[in-house]
Amino acid sequence: MIIQDSLWDEIEPWMLETRRNIHRFPELGLNTTKTQQLVEEALDSMGIVHTRPIAYGVKALIGPAGGNALLLRGDMDALPISEATGLPFASAIPGAMHACGHDCHTAMLLGAARYIKAHEDQLSRPIVLMFQPGEEGPGGALPMIEAGILENPPVTQAAMIHITDELSTGIIGLKEGPAMGGCDDFTITVRGKGGHGSAPHTGVDAIMVSVAMISALQVIVSREQDPLDSCVISVGTIHGGYRENVIADQVVMTGTIRTLQSTTRNRALQRVREVVDHVAGMYRARVDLVVEAGYPPTVTDVAWTRGAKNILAQQLGPDYVVDIAQPTLGVEDFAYVAERVPSAVLNVGIVGEGFTTGLHSAGLLVDEKALKFGAAAFAALALQK
Ligand SMILES: [Zn+2]
Ligand SMILES: [Zn+2]
Repeated sequence: MIIQDSLWDEIEPWMLETRRNIHRFPELGLNTTKTQQLVEEALDSMGIVHTRPIAYGVKALIGPAGGNALLLRGDMDALPISEATGLPFASAIPGAMHACGHDCHTAMLLGAARYIKAHEDQLSRPIVLMFQPGEEGPGGALPMIEAGILENPPVTQAAMIHITDELSTGIIGLKEGPAMGGCDDFTITVRGKGGHGSAPHTGVDAIMVSVAMISALQVIVSREQDPLDSCVISVGTIHGGYRENVIADQVVMTGTIRTLQSTTRNRALQRVREVVDHVAGMYRARVDLVVEAGYPPTVTDVAWTRGAKNILAQQLGPDYVVDIAQPTLGVEDFAYVAERVPSAVLNVGIVGEGFTTGLHSAGLLVDEKALKFGAAAFAALALQK
């Protein structure tokens, strides 16, 4: 079993130190300069070739030159949160913290790289390592795909790791099919015609039209959507009007759409557009709808996910691999990879010694024993026969 290899005695402390170095200097968005440098220096020390498909992303290659490749993804960016853990290696950058665990993901992928490199002669296919910035926004996966990370060698399978506060350390959870949500935000501007509140027939009341629109939007979810296939449409803000005796000539509303499947997402977007257009037309108003497209839903490949579960059960032990029953509506830009090649998502448990609160919180303490399990899981997928 890969997890029992004594090589981890060397790799594990190195990974821990690497993770702490990354944790101390978190970087936001697409500007992961220091982290990129650390990754590249680590790869150099292992003799692994690498390139920069985009400014602050890294592509590395291990194994044979030809054949279809497996891609392993680690994200490198942090969150705009001020750390409150009091750890000796806490963030030295005010307003930035690795509160989503991407420091762990990068360290796990580097640890896996070291293990895989040491067993390079056993690889049956090329392994592409993808170190990406910008997962928390504005997105680094899509620019790296557009820069060709899935080509040369052609990538035909992919996997990513995310730490999870819902599993104990050492447990790895996998979800077959729809795993994470897609997110699209929208702004609706309703334009009516102003007038005196005592003479509504002289105007077109944008507030009344907006109320009708909000009601009609709920029907998309409650009456048109399969209740077993999640879809949420929420209007979160509404602003309009001047005073009690003036007919409002304009209302601006913003909201969000969350879905688990691309077909559902596309249909929801289309129906929102049709509904706001028709309601506006019915009541003589005009409407502008602006959609800010977010990440698509992350849907894992069922066959590859089952295959990955078998490999992990063999190489880590059957008690350490579990099924995840429910998807989440959180988003992940690995979705763009999963849209193009069969993909698996490994949720690595971090709840153990020292764990306090959940991901995206200023007090997040990760049980660092999880690093070895994540790295070993990546290595097991790479070295499968
Ligand atoms: Zn996050
Ligand atoms: Zn994350």
